[in-house]
Amino acid sequence: MLNPGSLDPPPVEERMPHAIGIDLGTSNSVVSVIRNGVAEVIPDAQGNRTHPSVVSFGHGQNPIVGHEAMLQMNLNPQGTVYSSKRLIGRTIDSEEVVRATHSVPYDIVPGEHHDPRIRVHDRVYSLQEISAHVLRYLRSLAEAYLDEPVRHAVITVPAYFNDNQRQATRDAGEIAGLEVLRIINEPTAAALAYGLGEERDEYAAVYDLGGGTFDISILRIMGDVFEVVSTAGDTYLGGDDFDQLVMDYMLAQLSEEHQRQVRRSPSARLKMRRAAEQAKRELSEVEETTIKVDALVKDERGYDQAFTSILTRIQYNQIVFPLVKRTFEVCDEALTAARCTPRDIGALVMVGGMTRSLIIQEAVENYFGREPALGVNPDEVVSVGAAIQAENLLGSMQSGGRSSGTLLIDVTPQSLGIATVAGFCERLIERNTSIPTGTSKKFTTSVDGQHEVKIEVFQGEARMASDNEKLGQFILEGLRPAPRGDVKITVYFDIDGDGIVSVTAEESETGQAASIRLEASTGLSADEVKDLREELSFDNLGF
Ligand code: AMP
Repeated sequence: MLNPGSLDPPPVEERMPHAIGIDLGTSNSVVSVIRNGVAEVIPDAQGNRTHPSVVSFGHGQNPIVGHEAMLQMNLNPQGTVYSSKRLIGRTIDSEEVVRATHSVPYDIVPGEHHDPRIRVHDRVYSLQEISAHVLRYLRSLAEAYLDEPVRHAVITVPAYFNDNQRQATRDAGEIAGLEVLRIINEPTAAALAYGLGEERDEYAAVYDLGGGTFDISILRIMGDVFEVVSTAGDTYLGGDDFDQLVMDYMLAQLSEEHQRQVRRSPSARLKMRRAAEQAKRELSEVEETTIKVDALVKDERGYDQAFTSILTRIQYNQIVFPLVKRTFEVCDEALTAARCTPRDIGALVMVGGMTRSLIIQEAVENYFGREPALGVNPDEVVSVGAAIQAENLLGSMQSGGRSSGTLLIDVTPQSLGIATVAGFCERLIERNTSIPTGTSKKFTTSVDGQHEVKIEVFQGEARMASDNEKLGQFILEGLRPAPRGDVKITVYFDIDGDGIVSVTAEESETGQAASIRLEASTGLSADEVKDLREELSFDNLGF
C-alpha cells in the first residue's frame, strides 16, 4: 500500500533540472550552478574550482582535460592543446592565428572553411571540437556534483567576440551535448554576479585582468537591462607579463655566464617562471618575500647552485608599474568610446586572478575614484553570473516565458559593413550599436550591363575592407541590364538578440533578392555539428 505522503509532489527544487553557467576561459574555465538560490562553484574530484582549458590527446586514447591535461604540457607538447580560445572562430590568416602558429608547440593547419584546425597524431580537429572537450568535461563535473544529467547551459564569451567566434562557441556547446540557452558577455555575467542593476540605473566598469589578457567593459545598467556600452582590451597583457618582468629582475642578478645557462635551459627558465609567479602571489599578502630556486645553475666546478633573492612589494610595484599603466590607457579608450569619465562609473567590478594583486586594486581605486566590489572571488565571478542567467532562462522556459528573468541587451563589438568597388569598407552598423538592430543602405552598379553583384561582409574599424575580418559573402544575380549607376540595390543588415547577423541585398526595381545568415563563415555546418555531437556522445572519456 502506498503511504499517502509519497503521493505528494517532491519540492520544486528537487523536480527542476539544473542549468549550469560556464566561464570558458583562455587559460582556465569555471562551472557554477544555482541551488536553492545559492551560487555553488563546482569542484573536480581533487577539490579544484578552476580547471585548465587544456585538452591532451594520447595515442589512440580518449583525450584528457583539465589539471591532468596540464601535466601533459611538458610530456606531450604536440598533443596538448591550450589557449584554443585565441583561435576559435577566426580565419587561418588572421593575425592572432598567425601569431599562435609561431608560438605554440601543437600543429595548426588550414581547415575546409578557411578556419584553423589542430592536427594531433594524424587526426585533424576543429577548434569547436577542442572546446567541446573542455565543455564536456565541465558538464561531467557538474553531473557528478549534482548527481543528475545536465543539459542546459549559459556560456560566456568576451564582449569583443564577433559573430563567428560566438557561433563557434555555441557549436562547441552543442557538440558537448549541451543545449546552449544563451551566449552572454563575460563582463555582463560579472555584473550579474554582483546583483548590479537591482533597481538602480548606473554605469559599471568591469576590469578584467587574467593570466594572458586584459579587458575593460563599460556597462549601462537600467534595472533589468544590461547594455555593454563599450569594450576595449589588450589580448596580450596579463599576469604572464607580470611574471616575465619579475623573471627579468631575477635574471639581472645573475652573472653573465649564469644568465647564458638559464637561457639555454628550458627547465631552468620554467623553474624561474614558477618562482616569479609564486613571489607575485605572495606579495598580494605580505610586504616582502624571499625568492628561492634550487639547483638553478652550475658553478665553475659543475656543482648545482641555488638562486636566492628578496623582493619587496615596493620593488615589485616599481617593476610592474609600466604594465599597470598600460591597463589604464586601455580604460581611457573604453571610457572615451562610452562618452564617460571615471567619475561617471557607479560600480566597479574586478575579474581575473590578477585583480587579487594589491597594486592593481589600489591603482584601479585611484583611477576610478571609488572602491572596487570584491565580495565574489574574481576567478569565479563570471561563471557565477552565467549560472544566475542560466537559472533565469531555464525558469523562464519552464514557465512558458512568463518569468521575467534578466533581459540582457548587448552591443555590436565591432563595426559591420560591405566592401565597395574601390576596396573601402562601407559601414552600415557602427560598433557599440545596441542589438537587436537593423539598417539599410542603397548602392548602385559600377559597370554597364552588370548582371550580378558580389556582397562581401566585413567586421572591423579599418578603412580598407581587406584590413578587416571577412564574415562572409554572397552574390545577387539576375540584375536587369542597364547602364552603370542605373540599377539600385538596397543592402539590409539585421542583428538578432544572440548577435547573429543576416544580410540581404535587393534590387529596388525588380525586387530580386539574395541573402545570407552569417552563421560563422569559418564555422561548421549544422550537419557537421550534429555528427560531432553524436561521435562525442559515444566516446567514453572516463570522467
Ligand atoms: P585567470 O586567468 O583569471 O585565472 O588569472 C590568472 C592570473 O592571476 C595568473 O597570472 C596568476 O598568477 C594571477 N593570480 C592568481 N592569484 C593571484 C594573487 N593572489 N595575487 C596576484 N596574482 C594572482
